Amino acid sequence: MEDDCIFCKIASKEISKDLVYEDENFIGFLDINPRADGHTLIVSKKHYKSLLDIPNSLGNELQEAVKKAGLDLINSGKAEGFNVLVNVGEVADQVVHHLHIHVIPRNDGDSVRLFS
Ligand code: AMP
Ligand code: ZN
Repeated sequence: MEDDCIFCKIASKEISKDLVYEDENFIGFLDINPRADGHTLIVSKKHYKSLLDIPNSLGNELQEAVKKAGLDLINSGKAEGFNVLVNVGEVADQVVHHLHIHVIPRNDGDSVRLFS
């Protein structure tokens, strides 16, 4: 747990948050500033600064979590597809320095613009 890390506080339940996903090493919850309805973040329970710091041994579990979050969006009718986005470093728009994967729902004709 890192001091003053918002995602550590959510992972440790110091700040309560409705979870849409949980397994041994990851949680999922809705982004507070969603790019689309249902925008989900998959977040490690442990503090890793970015994708570069997470051990490869957690790769399968992380992929499962991302796939489950995306499939839930599709199966619930919220999305026809989704984007998976990881920002690494401030130059790449990483604001929260605790590993998280964006799962962004997409629908035909939506106005989501990730690359401009
Ligand atoms: P990034 O730019 O990749 O670091 O994205 C950080 C994301 O975390 C942004 O999309 C924020 O809206 C989101 N975020 C920050 N604080 C919270 C919070 N307390 N609950 C949910 N999402 C948050
Ligand atoms: Zn943290």
